[in-house]
Formats: sequence, structure tokens, C-alpha cells
Amino acid sequence: MSKSLNATMPKSNFFGDVCEFFDHAAQFTKHPEGLLDQIKACNSVYRFRFPIRKGNGLEVIDAYRVEHSHHKTPTKGGIRYSDMVNEDEVMALAALMTYKCAIVNVPFGGAKGGIKISPQNYTVAELENITRRYTVELIKKNFIGPGIDVPAPDYGSGEREMSWIADTYQTMNPGQLDALGCVTGKPIALSGIAGRKEATGRGVAIAIRECVDVAEDMQTLGFTTGLSGKKVIVQGLGNVGYHSVKYLSEFGAIIVGLCEFEGAIFNADGLDLEQVMAHRKTTGSILGYAGAKREFENPAEGLEQPCDILVPAALENQITEYNIGQIKAKIIAEAANGPTTPAAAAIFIDRGGIIIPDMYCNAGGVTVSYFEWLKNLSHVAFGRMDKRYEENVNLNIVNMVESSTGVKLSSAQRSAIVKGATELELVNSGLEDTMIRSYHEIREIKAHNPKIDSLRTAAFVSSIDKVAVSYMNMGIWP
Ligand code: GLU
Repeated sequence: MSKSLNATMPKSNFFGDVCEFFDHAAQFTKHPEGLLDQIKACNSVYRFRFPIRKGNGLEVIDAYRVEHSHHKTPTKGGIRYSDMVNEDEVMALAALMTYKCAIVNVPFGGAKGGIKISPQNYTVAELENITRRYTVELIKKNFIGPGIDVPAPDYGSGEREMSWIADTYQTMNPGQLDALGCVTGKPIALSGIAGRKEATGRGVAIAIRECVDVAEDMQTLGFTTGLSGKKVIVQGLGNVGYHSVKYLSEFGAIIVGLCEFEGAIFNADGLDLEQVMAHRKTTGSILGYAGAKREFENPAEGLEQPCDILVPAALENQITEYNIGQIKAKIIAEAANGPTTPAAAAIFIDRGGIIIPDMYCNAGGVTVSYFEWLKNLSHVAFGRMDKRYEENVNLNIVNMVESSTGVKLSSAQRSAIVKGATELELVNSGLEDTMIRSYHEIREIKAHNPKIDSLRTAAFVSSIDKVAVSYMNMGIWP
């Protein structure tokens, strides 16, 4: 059995790992070394500390915001709330954001923030205090704004934190018309967008579905095409993990294993997500769930059970050279950022496995953040102007076809054809289109160059080329 994998294993050289992947891919591009160095480096690293009142005393909080690349502005990326946050981690995550945005053609540079706390150790009032003070510190240094740098949720943060950020920014920028575009992942009632919460998990499920639909690639793995009946293990039941499981099940996959901090559960015939969640809510643990055939106190063992697809949806550094030998899956879909180390990835690829890389696989979140930002800048919800107009046009067409052909549609058929798109439908359609196009863009790059060993390398080649073009267009490089 491999050594224990859990969130208490901090990664010491995460940015170095991202750079290693970058350097490996850079050999397949034709850009001068200086330009590659500029793309790779973190442009601005802001480390700061501030005090908050806790109990009868004060506590000093460590915090970060890293803007990796200004080849496009604003920069974009979540804020992580975790006691494992450190400068190296935030730099790595910011760099991944640059490449992620480039792959899915979201016109932002990459950024990331971090607040070094365990949220469960703080009251809601203290968390609000910390978040508002963090925002003020960013405002003071010009590290936030709808045209500057736009945070979003990440591990340990969500809609509630984003609403505190939006409110603080708005309060300190009275009259700024686009102020609410300073952060995404906000609640719908505070100018958020339908579908943002589900977006990363939905994107992960679409990415996997695209991958397993390519007959040629599935043949090499000895798989049939399609998600139907494929056995999946997911690590992490946070926002990303939960929604990945939900949509993978909807697409026909069988969820055979789930892993969390407290342990892992397994049933080759499938686990019921909602029942597991309800059990965890009442008992505080996934262990003891009656529908599991096996359970493991060491969550690492959960990853090593038989399955076709493994979806790490928790933190970085989970699949390493120490446990890759025990992983049975033939596809790893990186819903988390940086879950597979370069050494483990090389072994897995050598073995003929497919890794759907993080920078593409979990890009659904930032894609829908982009839609939210556009909504905030245009001050109107998607579909508001054209929904009824579209319905009237459709209705006229249906009436005309019915009267000229004599065919009568049922009322269900009629409303399915006539109905104009809601904001959620437009968001989901934009997300699906983005995930499908980007997958094939990466796959084609790999298919056209036999020396490119993996989808990750292809994804890096794609994003390095796109960022390089931005610099050239700025006239910075000849
Ligand atoms: N934190 C998410 C990520 O790693 C979302 C970033 C965003 O929406 O800006 O992709």
C-alpha cells in the first residue's frame, strides 16, 4: 500500500512542477528563450499580513495574491482558504490559470489568491472580517478590479465569500458602474450567473465524455466508447467533486468509489451520491454508509481500487511516484489543480494511460466566470433581451409549418420547439461548446506530432503559442 495521501501533505515544489511541464512542452514550440521565460515567470507576487480580532486577542493572518501573466487583463483566478497555503502553491496555481484561460480562449491572464487559515476554525463573523480585510489590502495595492484582477471561489471559499468581496469593493469604489465585475462566483441575487456553481464539475464530466467518445483512443486502452457503464472513482466531495459525480452519473457512468479526508468507500456495482451525501451530513463521515461493500480508513487506498477512470477532485500532489504503481484506472481526469506530479504522470503515460490535464479538465469554472464578468459589464442577464422575441419567431414558424403541412404537433413538441433560451441554458451551451472544442484542439495537436507524448504537453503547447501571440501583438516581441 502506498504512503498516506491526504491534505496534510503540503507540496514543496508545486511551481517547479508546473515549470517542468512547461519546459517539456516548450521544446515543441519555436519561441525564443527570452519570450518563454517571460511567459513562464510570475509577474507580480504580493505577500501580506494583517491582524484580526479573535476571542480576546489578535491573530495575524498570512495572505497572498499572485498575478502570473498580464499578457491579457484583467487577470483571473480563485482565492484559496486553507492552512496549507504558501507562496509556492499560489504561484503554481496562478500560472495554471494563465494556461487554463488560454486553452479555453478566455481572454484573461492568470492569477490566484490564498489566505492561510482553516475556515472551520473561525466563526462566520471572523471569516467575514478576514475576507473584507483581505479585499481592502488588495484594493490598497491595486490588485483587484473589473479591469485589473478578478478573484473567484477556490478550495475553501464560495458564494458567501465572493459576496463579501463584491460588497467591500463596491463600498470603496462608490459610483463605479462596473464594480460588481470585480469578482465572480457571486450569488445570483448579487449579480452572479446561473450555472456558475456547477460549472467546474459539469465541465469535468463533459471533458471525460469527449475523451471516451474517441473510438481510436479507447481502442488503445482496450475500452469501448462512451461513458455508459464506465467505472469511476472520485476523490473529494467538495463543489467540484460533487458536481463531477452528479453529471458523470447523469451521463451513464457508474460511481464505484468515493474518497474523502475521513476515508474511502467502494462498491463495484455503484454508489448513490445523494444517499452518501445524506449519510455524511448526519454522521459526519462517508464511512459507515450502508451501500458500500468495502471501506478504508486510509483514503489513499480508495484511489487504488479497480476502476476505469480516476477523478482526483481535491488538492495537488495526490498521485505521486509512490502510489502510481497501485492505480488501476486507465484514465486520470484532473478535476483538481496539480493532482499528478510530473514523475507519476510520466510513469502513467509510459504505461499507455490517458491523463486529461487539469488546465483543460477543470476550465469550466473560469469559462463560466468569464460569462458572469461579461454579464456584469453589460448589466443585463443573458437572454433577457431576446428570449420572448425568439419565442415569437419560433411560434410563427411552427404555425406556418403546421398550416402548410397539416401536421399537428403535440403541446409538448410545440413548447420544446418554441421555447426561447434561459440564462442557464445559454451558459450551459457556451460551457459545453467550449469544453468540446478545446478537447479536440488539444487532441489534434497531439495527433499531429507523434513526439508530443501527452494531452498535457499538447495543452501546454496550445497555451504557450496563444500567450506568445499576445506578446507579439503587443509589439513586445518581434
Ligand atoms: N478557482 C477556479 C479555478 O481554479 C476558478 C477560477 C475563476 O473562476 O476565476 O479554475
